[in-house]
Amino acid sequence: MRAISKLVVHCSATPAARDIGVAEIRAMHKAKGWHDVGYHYVIRRDGRVEKGRPDEVTGAHVVGHNTGSLGICLVGGVKPDMTAETNFTPAQYASLETLLTTLSARYPKARICGHRDLSPDRNGDGKVTPGEWVKFCPTFDVAAWWAKATAIR
Ligand SMILES: [Zn+2]
Repeated sequence: MRAISKLVVHCSATPAARDIGVAEIRAMHKAKGWHDVGYHYVIRRDGRVEKGRPDEVTGAHVVGHNTGSLGICLVGGVKPDMTAETNFTPAQYASLETLLTTLSARYPKARICGHRDLSPDRNGDGKVTPGEWVKFCPTFDVAAWWAKATAIR
């Protein structure tokens, strides 16, 4: 089994009204010359989870951290003008929680984080702060959300 040390949450950076799934994202990624969709899982607006790349295959979702990680993409994340917006549906959060519960049981040592948390720590203070985010993806603090989600169980 491939060693997984990170479960990385992304957004598709598409407006809330765009009801897309793995087929559309695969087409976008193939248009960039990739051989397959870069993510391992895609969570549609209605909460349905669609399988992307096999977990055993290295993804293409975060520069410098594809080895040893799985990429999970929430569809949404921008306003119609393409600026960042945390606009995920309750069904998407519920599915994300279920999926991360399953994956963290399978890979107990994996860190759960968002794409933006893997930006380079430019000032070397050991923390990736908002000014250092290369991308806004996925628009919310995944580690804090996960801590809260797991605390109320
Ligand atoms: Zn991302």
